Amino acid sequence: MKYLPLFTDLREQTTVVIGGGETAAQKLRLLLRAQAKPLVFAVSPNKEIKDMEHAGLIRLRHSAFDTAQLIGCSLVLIADTEEPRAVEIAAAARQAGIPVNVVDKPELSSVIMPGIIDRDPVLIAIGSSGQAPVLVRRLREKIETLLPARLGDLVSFAGRYRQAVASAIREPQNRLRFWERFFDGPIAGTVLSGRNADATDAMLRLVNLDTQKPQVGSVALVGAGPGDPDLLTLRAFRTLQDADVVLHDALIDNRMLDYIRRDARRILVGKRKGQHSHSQDAINQLLLDEAQKGNRVVRLKGGDPFVFGRGGEEMSFLRAKGIEVEIVPGITAAAGAAAVAGIPLTHRGLASAVTFITGHDQGATSDLDWAALATGGQTLALYMGVSTTREISEKLIAHGMAPSMPVAVIENATLLNQRVLRSRLNQLVKTCAVENVQAPALILIGEVTSLAQVDEAFEYPPLAAVN
Ligand code: SAH
Repeated sequence: MKYLPLFTDLREQTTVVIGGGETAAQKLRLLLRAQAKPLVFAVSPNKEIKDMEHAGLIRLRHSAFDTAQLIGCSLVLIADTEEPRAVEIAAAARQAGIPVNVVDKPELSSVIMPGIIDRDPVLIAIGSSGQAPVLVRRLREKIETLLPARLGDLVSFAGRYRQAVASAIREPQNRLRFWERFFDGPIAGTVLSGRNADATDAMLRLVNLDTQKPQVGSVALVGAGPGDPDLLTLRAFRTLQDADVVLHDALIDNRMLDYIRRDARRILVGKRKGQHSHSQDAINQLLLDEAQKGNRVVRLKGGDPFVFGRGGEEMSFLRAKGIEVEIVPGITAAAGAAAVAGIPLTHRGLASAVTFITGHDQGATSDLDWAALATGGQTLALYMGVSTTREISEKLIAHGMAPSMPVAVIENATLLNQRVLRSRLNQLVKTCAVENVQAPALILIGEVTSLAQVDEAFEYPPLAAVN
């Protein structure tokens, strides 16, 4: 970074503008907006500059500038001045440590003027380090269109209540939350649409109400998708940014955890098969406790919270205790795995249904309608199935599914170490053993899996050989 952006208070300072033409006038308009009282040196000032003097906005000297007059200046702007003279004054100013800008000559300047978006008191300054003024103008236009016209009014409005809110809501975290709610909520909308009186009434009510009412927290059950942080939804991202506490599984990628608001607490409730660090009851209780303390709690779960994620149980438990629960859907592992493997879950002529089943859910596999699952023309997506491949494939074959039915195993789908393996139903156990397939892996069963794009030689045994 070659420049440090700073905002300068020019009131009560001596700001010198050298030049009397259109460029000088343009800079003067800017300085006047910042309540400066410029001292202008111009042998033959144009009409606008003379008018400014008549209006008492500037002081005007009808003479050339002498570097001796630099003393006491806090900023020098050189406009409409021929080069050798500009070079000389700029050098003198730099030597005296006085910030100097020569219009359109960054190489002579110690400070340069940014593009400005003015929603006073909100100011946005944009610069390209003097290298692409046209691009800066484009960026400015873009940002202008994004910002509500009355943004400045909103900031001033909030500013008027800062003290009142600070004394009414003592706890800094609650105060932060109050302001977040304010800026996202209807009162801010009222200010932005220019209805200040309505906004004032509503604000007074809100401040008074907020101090009486105990803070109630909430829980969001958020789907994190299959692993790749890019597959998080925008809503999931926002809840992570707003969270006070995040309870997450062991499977959640570290890159995704980086999206969590910095000062939020993170609690690993890691549930990996075989090593239950928290029971489901303990997780439910923890969610409840944190919400009752007034926190915005996020329960971040792999895939989608409502697909084999026990999200339904958490939701029911919390709602029964009066806690507000929001569900943020995520990309479920079957969709993520199908995408990376190039396997359409439904496909005209091959599969007109897709069924999500699990190989590991409180012994529930035996409850499934195996005869229905074994019929063709559909895709089965088997979750948590690595350790039950034998039982599943035997049952399907016993109920009439072709032993040669193509299957695909997608391990660590969407993650850097993902693997896509293809096999046949009667070879599935062997494939998983030979390749040492580990959880998390998703097993897809059905004709569609023959469309899989197998990146390496992962075909066990080659499809042509089994039949
Ligand atoms: N709620 C999750 C599923 C949780 S059950 C979802 O909607 O995806 C955990 C199982 O999901 C794992 O045993 C595995 O079968 C599957 N799974 C989760 N992430 C996976 C991934 N990245 N690749 C393959 N399978 C995955």
